[in-house]
Amino acid sequence: MAKKLFIKTYGCQMNVYDSARMADVLQPLGYSPANSPEDADMVILNTCHIREKAAEKVYSELGRLRRLKDARESAGHGRMVIAVAGCVAQAEGEEIIARAPFVDMVFGPQTYHRLPEMVAQASRAGGAVLNVEFPVEAKFDHLPDHEGPGATSAFLSIQEGCDRFCTFCVVPYTRGAEFSRDGAAIEAEARKLVAAGTREITLLGQNVNAWHGVGTDGGDWRLGRLIRHLAEIDGLERIRYTTSHPRDMDDELIEAHGAVNKLMPYLHLPVQSGSDRILAAMNRQHTADDYLRIIDKLRRARPDLALSSDFIVGFPGETDKDFAATLRLINEVGFAGAYSFKYSARPGTPAAAMGTQVPESVRDERLAGLQQLLGEQETAFHRTKLGAEFPVLFEKPGRKPGQIAGRSPWMQAVVVEAQEALIGRIAICRIVELAAHSLHGVVAALDGERGDAPGTERICA
Ligand code: SAM
Ligand code: SF4
Repeated sequence: MAKKLFIKTYGCQMNVYDSARMADVLQPLGYSPANSPEDADMVILNTCHIREKAAEKVYSELGRLRRLKDARESAGHGRMVIAVAGCVAQAEGEEIIARAPFVDMVFGPQTYHRLPEMVAQASRAGGAVLNVEFPVEAKFDHLPDHEGPGATSAFLSIQEGCDRFCTFCVVPYTRGAEFSRDGAAIEAEARKLVAAGTREITLLGQNVNAWHGVGTDGGDWRLGRLIRHLAEIDGLERIRYTTSHPRDMDDELIEAHGAVNKLMPYLHLPVQSGSDRILAAMNRQHTADDYLRIIDKLRRARPDLALSSDFIVGFPGETDKDFAATLRLINEVGFAGAYSFKYSARPGTPAAAMGTQVPESVRDERLAGLQQLLGEQETAFHRTKLGAEFPVLFEKPGRKPGQIAGRSPWMQAVVVEAQEALIGRIAICRIVELAAHSLHGVVAALDGERGDAPGTERICA
């Protein structure tokens, strides 16, 4: 029977990917997408536990869903199944069922391939289904293929979990030990996406450049080799990967940035802090200088590479001098974009037990200073593209009628006035204006007409 499914996704791209795969698993059971929770027979909250108050947000959303569920059921519109998935589900488990007994299913990120069994169990009376194990069978081997048209730009999860144990981070506890998929399975999924219309693939992992797996030739591959291999797929125009750790940035991967045109010249490489003392306390296993040397090598391989990073301010014990070292590193690198966060203690992580927590007012002040500098760098980076021509991959209609929107090789949003027939295609665009959150351009040529290599730029005289 036809049923409607609504998934609300919190957090990172890994969760966006997982939500899409949950929809794929549920499709054979008759579930198709609902526009809102009000219309849904099943609502899944796919949660993220990375920052403070994540669990509180989930409980408050559950309160809202309970009212919807009661209203729907008392109006005789049938049962609404409520599920909590993702990292809050993994971390809180039983606690969710105790605090929100109307929830039907609670499952972690490693078990959603078992959704059909869980749905069957939940439909029988007798309380909520809880599944927060790390099963021995590989989840990816049990997921169905995606059916239907592919998005122009799609995610492909190649690695999960993390063994680095940064002292502030919950990921190793909620996502478990590092796991890499085999090259052949990744290639097969990439080919299916491309056959369904995808032109850009972002390879995903909590620590994606730690990927190491069996290659299609049976050899032991690392990410640089995998990217070279995927770049041979006809019809795949752009490759990206996120999120990486500086310690796993090996020479083969750095060389791929210079050698593989389809690998876009934009890299998110989080450094978190510019102070060696804080980096050591975070257990990042590299110094600020190590990071600068990696950036230097990357820029030698690919001179137009744009960089972004994550930063945490107010990590326990961070002094003014440590913070000044972070600002120095930012000035030295020059970032095209960044995410910055106030440190927040995550229960169960080593940093939460450190005795030298930084006062909230100091964290606020440092975050404002850091964001001001990063904002200036981002604007300066966008300004370098004014008057430039480069390929844009169009993904969707723009906000205004007659406009379409896409991405530059450096992840910038680009808007042009052009026909929707260009969506899913690459066109060379000239940037004529900078807006607050996007670049505005005109189409100068269709890709291939001039023979420009993917991801290359020409500056107009
Ligand atoms: N694997 C990536 C790496 O090694 O940098 C990051 C993954 S994490 C999902 C995304 C970002 O959240 C981190 O880079 C960090 O800046 C931030 N983050 C993680 N735990 C945090 C905490 N306890 N407080 C503040 N920010 C945090
Ligand atoms: Fe968390 Fe990234 Fe550190 Fe792994 S490498 S523990 S995911 S911050």
